[in-house]
Amino acid sequence: METALWHPFSDMAVVRDEEFVLERGEDVWVYDAAGNRYLDATASLWYANAGHGRTEIADAAAEQMRKLAGYSIFGDFANEPARALAGRLADLAPMPDAKVFLTTGGGEAIDSAVKIARRYHDAQGQPERVHVISRTNSYHGTNGIGTGVAGIDANRIGFGEILPSSSRVAYDSVDALREEIRRVGPDRVAAFLFEPVIGAGGVLAPPEGYVQGVVDVCREYGVLVIADAVICGFGRLGTWFGVERWGVEPDLITFAKGVTSGYLPMGGVVVHGRVAEPFWERPGTTLRHGATYSGHPACCAAALANLDILARDNLVERGRLLEDELAAALKPLTAHPLVREVRAGVGLLAAVELQPELFDRLPSAVPDLSLLIRQRGVLTRTLAKALAVSPPLTIRSPEINEIGRAFAAGLDELAQKAGE
Ligand code: PLP
Repeated sequence: METALWHPFSDMAVVRDEEFVLERGEDVWVYDAAGNRYLDATASLWYANAGHGRTEIADAAAEQMRKLAGYSIFGDFANEPARALAGRLADLAPMPDAKVFLTTGGGEAIDSAVKIARRYHDAQGQPERVHVISRTNSYHGTNGIGTGVAGIDANRIGFGEILPSSSRVAYDSVDALREEIRRVGPDRVAAFLFEPVIGAGGVLAPPEGYVQGVVDVCREYGVLVIADAVICGFGRLGTWFGVERWGVEPDLITFAKGVTSGYLPMGGVVVHGRVAEPFWERPGTTLRHGATYSGHPACCAAALANLDILARDNLVERGRLLEDELAAALKPLTAHPLVREVRAGVGLLAAVELQPELFDRLPSAVPDLSLLIRQRGVLTRTLAKALAVSPPLTIRSPEINEIGRAFAAGLDELAQKAGE
């Protein structure tokens, strides 16, 4: 039956009559309406880090809803779960005296971080510092600023110019960033925005020395560093915020997804004490920005229960512990004639990219492969030229190997279809 549900990023002319309806989930498994079981190799949209069906998280949210479901934290209003969550995240963050601005998702976190950066410069007497530099291939959500800075060009098409004071640099070059800051004028640049490992843009880990290099360049020119940890955080790279792997201290970190493992919508920005200082210390320096559901008590209660699980079950460390095993399961696919590259080895995050010539013969190769793998009971995420793998952090060895086997079989069938 034709659906009234408009799916994000989807060709509704195709999807309208053939939705894939899921009904329940347990650990790394999800089940469709007919009771078929699938291995969730992407943790939904890179977020079910603690796995599905955690009744402790549901109970914590329900208990909070019975007590006080919602109350805005504008002005001096607060609630205990929001205070506790902010304190906990500030303690975990790799920067001193951090403060935490809560949002309802990652895109809103990006808009918040950029506005905080611009307002910070404004408060420091540098209102002309508004330009934002991001990277090619980057994805920062689909709110206004996230769309304006999108490094996946297709995501800006058709919307007009949303953020004129922005530009993109090659994702793997420190020199390109330095040159761009000089071209724009160092006293006009507010922030550099980057994902430690690019996710939706292809799962691209930074080259050796890159992260330290861009942070050094930004320090030299007074440009604030915003690390987008929406995918990379909460164990995905084996640390709380992803960036710790490179030993750097960003000015702002955006997060979402794994903070609640997706049990309820939640995101936010961790802000270095130095950047928060004018807002904390100078009366009248207000950030006129925020959303109705910022600090929503039930969402914060879900986040706290999720963080308890991640810590208690050592799931954050597991993201690193299992990275070689995931790479070992997927790397042999490099030998397949349809595969251009397998990118894996930094956290529980990987991508299998297809040969570029394949798309001439079979433009739908990526969704086709995803469907063939799904028919073998494994769910993957389609990217432009690759399939992504980012399973719940609870995954075990047999299931990791199952992902590799499903890929190999799916690729063989795709090769037949493509007439190889
Ligand atoms: N930043 C990154 C790196 C993301 O991957 C995403 C979503 O996938 C976002 C921001 C936007 O988050 P949301 O979809 O919660 O708005």
